[in-house]
Amino acid sequence: MRAIRRFTVRNVLPESLAPLDTLALNLRWSWHAPTRDLFASLDPQLWQRVHGDPVALLGSLSPRRLAQLAEDRSLIAEVGRLDADLRTYLTEPRWFQQLEDPDKPDTIAYFSAEYGTTAVLPQYSGGLGILAGDHLKSASDLGVPIVGVGLLYSSGYFKQSLTRDGWQHETYPVLDPDNLPLTLLRETDGTPARVSLGLPGGTRLHAQIWVAQVGRVPLLLLDSNVVENDDAARRVTDRLYGGSADHRLRQELLLGMGGVKAVRTYCRLTGTAAPQVFHCNEGHAGFLSVERVRELVQEEGLTFEAALEAVKGGTIFTTHTPVPAGISRYGTDLIGEYFGGGAALEGVPLEKILALGAEDFEGGNPAVFNMAIMGLRTARRANGVATLHGKVSRGMFHQLWPGFDVSEVPITSITNGVHGDTWTDPQFVSLARERLTDEQIASGDGFRLPPEEGGLSDEELWTLRGRLRTALVHEARRRVRKAWLDRGASPAELGWTDDVLDPDVLTIGFARRVPTYKRLTLMLSDPARLTRLLTDPQRPIQIVVAGKSHPDDEQGVGLIQRLVQFADDAGVRERIVFLPNYDIAMAQRLMPGCDVWLNNPLRPLEASGTSGMKCALNGALNLSILDGWWDEWYDGRNGWAIPTADGVQDPAERDRLEASALYELLEDTVVPRFYDRDDGGVPRRWMEMVRHTLATLGPKVQATRMVREYVTELYTPAAAASRALDGPGHEQARVLADWKARVRAAWPSVRVDHVESEGIGEVVNVGDPVSVTAYVALDDLTPQDVEVQAVGGRVDDEDNLTDLRLFPLELTESYEGGRHAFSGTHVLDGTGPFGYTVRIVPKNALMDGPAELGLATSAS
Ligand SMILES: *Cc1c(COP(=O)(O)O)cnc(C)c1O
Repeated sequence: MRAIRRFTVRNVLPESLAPLDTLALNLRWSWHAPTRDLFASLDPQLWQRVHGDPVALLGSLSPRRLAQLAEDRSLIAEVGRLDADLRTYLTEPRWFQQLEDPDKPDTIAYFSAEYGTTAVLPQYSGGLGILAGDHLKSASDLGVPIVGVGLLYSSGYFKQSLTRDGWQHETYPVLDPDNLPLTLLRETDGTPARVSLGLPGGTRLHAQIWVAQVGRVPLLLLDSNVVENDDAARRVTDRLYGGSADHRLRQELLLGMGGVKAVRTYCRLTGTAAPQVFHCNEGHAGFLSVERVRELVQEEGLTFEAALEAVKGGTIFTTHTPVPAGISRYGTDLIGEYFGGGAALEGVPLEKILALGAEDFEGGNPAVFNMAIMGLRTARRANGVATLHGKVSRGMFHQLWPGFDVSEVPITSITNGVHGDTWTDPQFVSLARERLTDEQIASGDGFRLPPEEGGLSDEELWTLRGRLRTALVHEARRRVRKAWLDRGASPAELGWTDDVLDPDVLTIGFARRVPTYKRLTLMLSDPARLTRLLTDPQRPIQIVVAGKSHPDDEQGVGLIQRLVQFADDAGVRERIVFLPNYDIAMAQRLMPGCDVWLNNPLRPLEASGTSGMKCALNGALNLSILDGWWDEWYDGRNGWAIPTADGVQDPAERDRLEASALYELLEDTVVPRFYDRDDGGVPRRWMEMVRHTLATLGPKVQATRMVREYVTELYTPAAAASRALDGPGHEQARVLADWKARVRAAWPSVRVDHVESEGIGEVVNVGDPVSVTAYVALDDLTPQDVEVQAVGGRVDDEDNLTDLRLFPLELTESYEGGRHAFSGTHVLDGTGPFGYTVRIVPKNALMDGPAELGLATSAS
C-alpha cells in the first residue's frame, strides 16, 4: 500500500467575510439561532447537506459562491453585526462578574471524560457528557471562569445502525480535527504545545491540546495522535469507553494527570489565572489529584499528606450514578504497573495512591481500585445530582465515614439542569420572545399571563405544539426510511414509510442510553395491551424510541432488538418507530415534538435524568417513575408519576406491576385528557398542564440555575479553602496534615468512660432542661482537638436514632491521665420517643466539618 499523506485544504475567506471564521470556531453558534441562520443563508442547500456544521460549510463553499458573497453588502453588514454581538457576549460583565463575594474563584478547572456540546463534535455517549456540555455553556452565559478539560477521541462514540434482524451495528468513523471547530494550542514560537506522561517500561505518552471555544469557556481536549508516540500510544484517545482495562486506564491517566498539565500549559500561554478549584465530574478524571499531589511534593517539597490536604481543599467530586457498572474500577495490580517499580513517581509512593482508591470496607473488593472512592477521598466537597440521588449516595458511600449517621455523610446534592438555549426549539423561542419579555420568560410568569394581558392563548400554544409534532413526524419518516435502506430494503418496499406516524396523534417519546436499569422494553411487558393503545381507532397513541447500547452490553443490545422486532410488525409499524443513532441533533427535534416523555427506570437507579427537563422546556409533559429529578419536582399538575412497586423483591414481578400501572395511566388518564377537545379542537385541560409545566418547571430545569448553585455552594467555599491550604508556603496544609496524623494515632485510645444525666426520667416534659455530663479519655489529644457531643434523636422501631440533633458539650473539668469532663444543659423542643448518646469527634477550624476524618467514638 502506498503511504498517502492526508491533509485538508481550507478555504481562505475574503477579507470582508473574515469574521465568519471566528463565528464558526466559537461554538456559541450551537445555541445562538441568529448565527446559525447567517450560516444557513450562505447556501441553504449546502447547509442541509453538511447537517448544520459551520466549519464544514465554510470549507465547502465554491470559490464562485464565495466571490459572490463577498460583494453582498447586506450580508457583510450582518456578518459584522453578529461578530460584534459575539464580541460583546465574550467580554461584557455577566452574573459572575457582579457577584460580590471576595472568596469567589479566579478559575475553575472542570474535568469530564465526555462532552456533548453539539452534534458536530461527537465526544459524548449520553447524559453525563451532555450535562458537561450544558455546564460549560451555562457557565459561559453566567461569565463563570471555567476551563474545561477532556479528551479528543478520534472516533468519538460509535455510530449506530441496525442489521436486518434488528441487531445494533457499530461503526467508528474517524474524525479529522482540522475539519472540526477546534484550534491547536501553540507555544509562543508557533510549535504545538505538548504534555507527556511516563508509562511503564520507560516510554512516554505525548498529547497535543485542541481548544474548543464554548462561548467564553475554553475546552481543552487532549489528543494522543501525535508523531512522537508509537502506534499503541497514538491509539490511546481512539474511542470513548472502548477497549481493555489497560486502555481505559491510559485514557483516564491522560485525562486526569495530562489534563492538569494541559491546564497549566494553557494558563501559562494565555495569562489565565491558575485555578483554585478542580471539579471532577464523575470518577474518570480522578487522577487529577494524584498529579496535583505530585506537583506539590516534587516542586514545593511538601509531604504526601500535606500535599493531599492542599489538593483536597479545592477539589469537588460529583458522583453521577448509583449503578456499579457506571463506576471505573481497576485491578490493584494494574495500578501497580503504572505507579510502582520503575514507573513510580518520586515522593508519591504506590501504596499511598492505592490507599486513595481502596475498597477497604465491608463488602469491598481488596483487589480493586475504585475511581469513585478515590474521587471522594481526594475532594473535600462532593455531591450527587438530585435530592434523592444525594440521599442514595450518602447511603452508598456511608462506609467511608464510619461512626457517623448516614444523614451526616458529607455528600450534598445539586440537581442537574439543561441549557435552555440549546434545548428549546427555535420556533418556541421566537413565539415566546415575540410576545413576552425576557424577565417574563425567565421567571415563567409569562406563561400564566392571560391573552388579554399580552400572554399566549391556548390556541396559539396548541398550534405551536402541533407544528413541533408535525416536524418530528416528518423527521421520523425520513429517518425510518433511511434506516430501512441501511438495513438492506429496496426503495420499492418502503412506500409505507411515508405514512409512518400521524401529526395529530398523541406522541410519546422514549430515548436514552440502554443500560438495563432504564428498562427500554418495559412498555412491551404486555404486547397485546400496548398494541391496543397504538391501534385504537379513535384515540391512538404513537411512540418514538431511540437509544444506543454500549457495544459490550449484550443485554442492552438484546433489548434494542426486542423493541425493533416489535416495531417492525406490519400491524404497528406506523405507530411505533425505533430511530437509529440517537444523538444531540435527533434529541433537539424529538423532545420538542413529543406530547409526553416517558421514563421508567428502576428506582432509585436514575441519578437525575435530564431528557425530561428538555421536554418540559418545550411544553411536553413528563410521564415518569418518581426517580431522579422527577421525584423532586413532580407536583401533581406538571405530568404524571408512574407508581413504583418499591419493596417487591422479584424483579419480573416488579416490572409487571409497574408496567401495568403505566398502561393504566395511559388508558385512563393521559389518552382521555389529550383527546378531550373543546369546540375549537383545543384540549383545554391538557393545555393547563402544558402552561403549568412551562411556568413552574421552565425556570427550575435551567442549567444556569444549576451552575449558580455550584458557584455559591461549592466553588466559592472550595476556592476559600484552596487559598488557605494551597497558598504560598502551604503552612496550613502542613499543620492540618500533622494534626490529622496525631489524631489518627491517638484515636484508638479515645473513649467515653461514663455518662451522667439529670432531668431524664421515663418522661421528660417539653421545655424542661436536660443536663448531660460525659467523662472522656483523650489520651494524648487535648480537649481542644475534639468536640464532645450529646447526640439526640427520635428512636425508631429498631432502636436507631433518626432526625439527629447535636448538642455540643463544654469542657468543665480536666483530670490526670488525659481524662476530662464535658457537660451541657439543653431544652428539648420536640415530643415523642427520644433517645440520646454521647459521641467524641475530631475538631479543627481548618477542617470543613467533623466528618472529614471519618472518626467518631460513641459511648458504648
Ligand atoms: C439529554 C440526552 C441524554 C440524557 O438523557 P437521560 O434522560 O438523562 O437519560 C442522552 N443522550 C442525548 C442525545 C441527550 O440529548
